[in-house]
Amino acid sequence: MNFSKKAQRIMFALWLLFVPAGTLLVYLYSPTKPGDWEGYGAFLLLALLSSIFPFFIAGTTFILVIWVQIAIFLKYGILAELISMQICMIPLVYHLKISRDTLFKYFYNSFMFFSLSILSGSLVIYLGYETGSIMLKDVIVYGSIFAISYLIINHLFLFMREYLCNMNPVFFSKDLYWEFACLFITLPFGLGLYLFENTTGTTALWLLGLPLLSITLLIRMYSDSEKVNADLNEASEFGHQLADRMTTNEILDMFLKRLSNMFPLNAGYIVDNIEDNFFVLRAREDGQNKELEFGHEDIKYSLAGKVYEKGEPILYNKQTEWNHMRPPFLADDMESVMCVPIYRNQKIEGVLILAARDKFAFEPYQLKIIHLLCSYFAVSLEKARYVREAVEKSEICELTKIYNYRYLDNQLKSDISKLNSGAYRTVSLIMMDIDKFKGVNDTYGHHSGNIILQEFANIIKQEIGSNGTVGRYGGEEFVVLLPNYSKLQALNVAEQLRRKIEQTPFIVPLDLGEITRDEIIFITASIGVSTAPEDSDEGMSLLRNADRALYIGAKQAGRNRVAEYVR
Ligand code: GH3
Ligand code: MG
Ligand code: MG
Repeated sequence: MNFSKKAQRIMFALWLLFVPAGTLLVYLYSPTKPGDWEGYGAFLLLALLSSIFPFFIAGTTFILVIWVQIAIFLKYGILAELISMQICMIPLVYHLKISRDTLFKYFYNSFMFFSLSILSGSLVIYLGYETGSIMLKDVIVYGSIFAISYLIINHLFLFMREYLCNMNPVFFSKDLYWEFACLFITLPFGLGLYLFENTTGTTALWLLGLPLLSITLLIRMYSDSEKVNADLNEASEFGHQLADRMTTNEILDMFLKRLSNMFPLNAGYIVDNIEDNFFVLRAREDGQNKELEFGHEDIKYSLAGKVYEKGEPILYNKQTEWNHMRPPFLADDMESVMCVPIYRNQKIEGVLILAARDKFAFEPYQLKIIHLLCSYFAVSLEKARYVREAVEKSEICELTKIYNYRYLDNQLKSDISKLNSGAYRTVSLIMMDIDKFKGVNDTYGHHSGNIILQEFANIIKQEIGSNGTVGRYGGEEFVVLLPNYSKLQALNVAEQLRRKIEQTPFIVPLDLGEITRDEIIFITASIGVSTAPEDSDEGMSLLRNADRALYIGAKQAGRNRVAEYVR
């Protein structure tokens, strides 16, 4: 629950104003007070035991103490019930993980239970119940009214709290139905306890208390395992989703985001280590991705570095346990921290750090689930890397390291569809073929031929830069795609390329003879240019047009020249 500082102060003022003075007033004016302190003490003990074991159903915490409270109220009246409930709040403080910053939760709950006791108790007394009555009808009717009004007012309080915290609450919620379901257990037990105690004394407390406490414990164990089950199910679905992601970025984003949804954390960091340098690869704080991509020497000496070294996941419940090795990126107000190594092929690749502002926010079983998720994460990242490498390989020419025919073909289709959709005005295509290249191979060897092809590719790539796409079309044929270049502009670029090739000395090893030495040779290229839409608005025919211009206009006209396609 997120109360503003002002709301917290109002809460404290309300508590101070009503609870101590109210209790005193009830003490002074309440018609009944416990007479037999021994009996009351036994009830108190049973109530405390009942409040020690809360359990969780459908995400809500239930404490079954009300069954004893019903009996206490029926036997001793408002004051005794009120005091018992305030005492039973002590275990609640532990369950709500109240720290100094969240002390207002204590005052809130104390005030709420105080009001519940006063309102429900007064209602029942106003309706005519006489404390200590042993008339069966009175006990059943008034006991039920007490329990039901207690439940409804309690629910109203929770509703108001969520409303004040802008959480759009629903009154007839799943919680309310669960509360009523619990009432079916607690009410008969509470009434039974009261009646039974009247006839047999404190023995009744143990005869009824033991079985109910045991059932509570069993339900708790069951609900704990249900919780672990639910988390494991979610983790498995999460793992599959991670495996479906194809890119590293998608995986990194999804990993931290889903972890924040699944566990009660306020911040998450993925710390990577490359060549003994630590840096934050991804950070997410309060639901927002943070740009924290910095490396820091201190990370090495922080708990991130320690876990990286040891390779064991670790859970801290409060700041004092880890403050002496605080990572430089972790905020001052964090308390609970989980730190988990990320393994790949039995080697630690990085460390995951999850932090929460509450103390005792995480549970040991969650650490295990996160450890498991980290392996899914590492495997998914590796898969993404393989996919990336495979895609790159399938698009790049091994020899020249520029795009291959497959990529060029796709890029040409994409450029043409952008032209057709109006995103590009024109698309020009330059096709180049090295002149008499067979002769170069024959004279200097295929290895030298290869070196020339590599150098040739480098030159065009450098000349074109980011203005277009450069690829190797086939043997010694290269293609340049220039989106938004007119025919004239493309002809100029082609002429520039032709001249650059002509003027560039290529150094090749001459390894045909006995001795190997470097030789400088010059080559030329013939070039054909076509432009869409004026020559064609279809990719394949644009290629054929450039090819025709190359052979007819450039090669047949004497080589080392640029020719444009003419219909
Ligand atoms: P022109 O284009 O001027 O008409 O003459 P050319 O000799 O260049 O023409 P042709 O298409 O007949 O020969 C192309 C040569 O390119 C054939 C082959 O030896 C060479 N070639 C193709 N691919 C490679 C390669 O990957 N490495 C090497 N070293 N040579 C290659
Ligand atoms: Mg050639
Ligand atoms: Mg050729």
